[in-house]
Amino acid sequence: MSLREKASGACLCGAVRFTASLPSLFCAHCHCSMCRRNHGAGYVTWFAVPPAQLVVESGAEQLARYESSVHGRRSFCRLCGSSLFCESTRYPDRVDIALGAMNEPIDREPQLHTYFDSRASWITLEDDLPRLGGKTGFEPLPETKPEEGG
Ligand SMILES: [Zn+2]
Ligand SMILES: [Zn+2]
Repeated sequence: MSLREKASGACLCGAVRFTASLPSLFCAHCHCSMCRRNHGAGYVTWFAVPPAQLVVESGAEQLARYESSVHGRRSFCRLCGSSLFCESTRYPDRVDIALGAMNEPIDREPQLHTYFDSRASWITLEDDLPRLGGKTGFEPLPETKPEEGG
């Protein structure tokens, strides 16, 4: 088994280019309302690495930062608006990177859904990944079970 050691990514216009060294810490679909609004998407798929494993190769001067909460900071390309990174002072040992910005696969598939209780009403899912939520976004949710059989 040959594990991928690095994966590169870029914003839409290509000004910001970066490399993430692997292994990653996790990969998750986030259904929180801030991610949804920030990306204009139904939910956002992130993977996380320790901050030292993320290197901005070019365009660092085009990275704008937005404090989306008292603890969170989101980085995007000021030329094309692509949202790329999310950091939180609550989790200083990781930086989240938008999986959709990557040029190639990383070392894992998405593993779970976070903030699932904040999901958009028009989202339907066809996977059986764990669906977590609550205050931290990573807590087990009460079983809702729409139509499960067997
Ligand atoms: Zn850009
Ligand atoms: Zn989110």
